[in-house]
Parts: sequence; C-alpha cells; structure tokens
Amino acid sequence: MQTEKVVIIGSGPAGLSAALYVARANLSPVVIAGSQFGGQVSLTHEIENYPGFPGGSGPELIEIMKAQAEKFGARIDMDVVLSVDFSHGSPFTIKTGNGEYHAEAVIVTSGASPRLLEVPGEVELTGRGVSYCGTCDGFFFRNKKVVVVGGGDSAIKEGLFLTKFATTVDVIHRRDSLRAEPALQERARANEKMRFIWNTVVENINGGNKVESVRLRNVVTGETQDYTTDGVFIFVGHDPNNGVFEGQLKMDEHGFVVADKMMCTSVEGVFAAGEIQDPLWKQVATSVGQGAAAAMAAEQWLSSRESGIPLVPEVKQALESDLAQR
Ligand code: NAP
Repeated sequence: MQTEKVVIIGSGPAGLSAALYVARANLSPVVIAGSQFGGQVSLTHEIENYPGFPGGSGPELIEIMKAQAEKFGARIDMDVVLSVDFSHGSPFTIKTGNGEYHAEAVIVTSGASPRLLEVPGEVELTGRGVSYCGTCDGFFFRNKKVVVVGGGDSAIKEGLFLTKFATTVDVIHRRDSLRAEPALQERARANEKMRFIWNTVVENINGGNKVESVRLRNVVTGETQDYTTDGVFIFVGHDPNNGVFEGQLKMDEHGFVVADKMMCTSVEGVFAAGEIQDPLWKQVATSVGQGAAAAMAAEQWLSSRESGIPLVPEVKQALESDLAQR
C-alpha cells in the first residue's frame, strides 16, 4: 500500500488550511474528511468575523477553502477514521471505514462536538425537540416557542438565528451575565423575540413523543417551575473529538490533544491544529492559522528527515525545546 507524505484528519478550517499549505509545498496531502465535512463551521448559518470573508454561510466558506486546497493538489476523501496506530513512529497507520492509510506525517484536526447538558429526557428527546444546531433545525420551529440553554457565543448567535422562525426564544443561563461577545449581546438585547431567564438551570426535559416543557430551577432562590416550550436548543460548550487518539497522543485533563507552539504532539511526526488542541480561542481565524502552522512544521520536519539537512536554527531550537518538554 502507498505511503502518503501527509494525511490530514478532519476537514474543518484547520484541516483545509493545512491541506492548502501542504499542497502548495508539493506534498499531495490527503484529507480524511470525517462524518461531517467542514466540521462545525458547515453547521453555522453566518460567519462574520473571518477576515477577507465579510459575510456568508459556513458551508459557503468551507466550499471556498476546499476548492482552494484542491486547486493545488489536495485530495479530499469522504471517509471516517476508526483507529490510528502511532505507537511505532513514522510511517503511521490510520484505519478508516473504507480501508487503511499509511502516512509519513499526520496532522490531526478532528475538532470538537457539542457538549450534552446531561439531564433526564435529553437523549430520549434528541431529534424530537432537543437540538444542538439552530441552523440545521430552526426551520422546524416556525411559529413555535423555543428555549436556548447557555450564555456563550454559540447560544446567542444560534438564538438570534432562531428568532427568524420561532415566536419567542428564551435564553436560559446559569448566571446573570452572558459570556458571549459584546456585539452579539447587543443584538440579542435589541431583538424583541429574545428574552432572558437568568440564574437558572434546566433540570429535566419533559415530553412523550416530543418536547413539551423543561423543568427549571433558579439557582439563587431554589424555586422550580415547569416551563412550556416546543424546542430546547443546547449550547453549553464543546468537547474535543479525541476518541481515536486515546492512548496514542498525550491529552490534557479535559481531553484536548497537547500540542506545542510548533503544533507538534507527543508523537514525533504527528501534528495537531484547531479545536482538538485549542481549549481557548476556537475561532475560524485561529484554526486556519494553526492549520497553516502545523502544515509548515510538518513540511520542515519531513524535508529535514529526508534530506538530512538540519532544520533552520530557529525551527530546530523551537522543535527541540518543545520536544524536550514532552
Ligand atoms: P462557551 O463559550 O464555552 O459557552 C458555553 C456556555 O454554556 C457558557 O455560557 C456556560 O456558562 C454555559 N454552560 C456550560 N456548561 C453548562 C451547564 N452544564 N449548564 C448550563 N450552562 C452551561 O461555548 P460556545 O458558546 O459553544 O463557544 C465555544 C467557542 O467558540 C468560544 O471560544 C466562542 O467564542 C467560539 N464561538 C464563536 C462564535 C463567533 O461568532 N464569534 C460563534 C460560536 C462560537 P458560563 O458562562 O457560566 O460558563
């Protein structure tokens, strides 16, 4: 079986940015797209803060990134990684739904997925009123009442989108101030369909065939109430998609893959970029930058290995000081 120079796992902004840079270095990257091509961005109805892309949908942005990477020779395979074996060093083995890949270097950009609220009724009613994506499911809530759980950018952004369909969007937040960026907060407060239920958590999601109400508890007064709603949209953060890397790559206590400033992981020749290794910024812009950095680091690592020509001193120093810390 052919050994690829570079295989990129994941097709979000970090993966496609890495693909563009690796392709332009003439290394013919293969991107294993995963179950959701484009990652979370492909579920986002509007991107407004990615420089050079003044406005448009997530799928539009992802299509542009894909076309740009393919133009320079990246190959994108609609396949899903089932397991990886990084234990013997390069070349690495990646098993997928459609077969097996061998790669001299790997860039992991598998991203993150929405976190569950973990309350009774949530799993049973998912797809029957419980959703993690306003962009995907908002249409089904035309002229209905919905609640949004969370106070971050996702909750407010998706909540605003839901006001296009729903009669009311009640944001249920466990504190009395939002985490979302000020511009989004302002827009939410100015939208008369949006209302806020502060200091409140959801304890139960109730319903038979579909969502009928949520059991709310005020964390200050302890008061509880059953609140009627047709939909529950949950945006309480994200968890890294790390399943196949367990036991293969070093992770922090929250499950993010540990990568240094050269985007090197605990395995030499395996690099990581985007939300799988970034618990902090999680923006399209930061993921794109990290993807580019991972690609350049992989290219430098491969060429030094092949040619025997040492890395440029600054890169060597950065790689070695970070390698020593792992
Ligand atoms: P986030 O910023 O981590 O916010 C999660 C929200 O859910 C917080 O308000 C948190 O409350 C709340 N929460 C967490 N666990 C909860 C629980 N068990 N019960 C009730 N509430 C809970 O997550 P996010 O909104 O998904 O954003 C993730 C990252 O993506 C952020 O860096 C964000 O900036 C970025 N993002 C950016 C945009 C954009 O357009 N710029 C859009 C989407 C996402 P506390 O506030 O009390 O912690």
